[in-house]
Amino acid sequence: MDDELAISVRGLRKAYGDNVAVAGVDLDVHRGEVFALLGPNGAGKTTTVEILEGYRRRDAGEVRVLGSDPAAPAGDWRSRVGIVLQGTGEFDALTVGEVVRHFAGFYPDAEDPAKVIERVGLADKARARTHTLSGGQKRRLDVALGIVGRPELLFLDEPTTGFDPEARREFWELIRDLAAAGTTIVLTTHYLDEAEALADRVGVIAGGRLVEVATPEQLGNRQAALATVSWRTPAGAVESAQSATPTALVAELAERFGGEVPGLTVTRPTLEDAYLTMIGHR
Ligand code: ATP
Repeated sequence: MDDELAISVRGLRKAYGDNVAVAGVDLDVHRGEVFALLGPNGAGKTTTVEILEGYRRRDAGEVRVLGSDPAAPAGDWRSRVGIVLQGTGEFDALTVGEVVRHFAGFYPDAEDPAKVIERVGLADKARARTHTLSGGQKRRLDVALGIVGRPELLFLDEPTTGFDPEARREFWELIRDLAAAGTTIVLTTHYLDEAEALADRVGVIAGGRLVEVATPEQLGNRQAALATVSWRTPAGAVESAQSATPTALVAELAERFGGEVPGLTVTRPTLEDAYLTMIGHR
């Protein structure tokens, strides 16, 4: 296997009875990369990720994660992989500090639990019992448990569901810090802005197949898409035109208006536009 790859997948397949959840996925994730998996409900994201984590058996295909087959991992493999599931177990009677210290004990080179609690923004809840946490705070605890072992590779399944906007921004900062320190990160999300903010590349999965892998800027070839230029006419109506050369059009408008163009906007398709087109076409 290529040492530059954290994950290498060829021909991955998984069915539940007659329901084919993953129908032949090929995927490479480079070391140090932040990779986001997007796709509608039931597309096969969680199944794919849980096979990579070693939690589900595959029916067919080659899978290498940090050089091991997750179905039969080598010695210390598990301690090198961090996992944040869609809601970890309940630890009702324990405090945040107790749970994080307990998990730290599973790893040979764990981070200081107090530091981890601080990093996920739970310092003022360290002594709180976990059943008293809000949904977003529980999610932060899940993230703490995923990173306390200083993983080389971190999987995050819909990590910010239930976060308020400020908590999401803080979480994004945390992910950027981890990525800057060299951690490879694979996350699933339904938030296009999250993928755009964090991911080096995104993979869109639909109907168990990887439809496209690209940088957020290049997904759906939206760089090449026409720009929409709109402005207000002297009578107050909004007019718009699609253009491959919006700069020339804006210059022409500026000349026509003799300066400022009223209500001028220039837009290109967003990542969400590209994604919805891709999903809608299937
Ligand atoms: P979501 O965005 O809703 O989390 P997903 O992309 O993660 O969806 P999966 O959870 O991988 O999708 O599900 C893919 C398909 O496999 C779905 O049709 C789902 O019903 C089915 N499936 C998933 N887990 C099981 C299971 N344990 N037993 C039977 N069918 C399953």
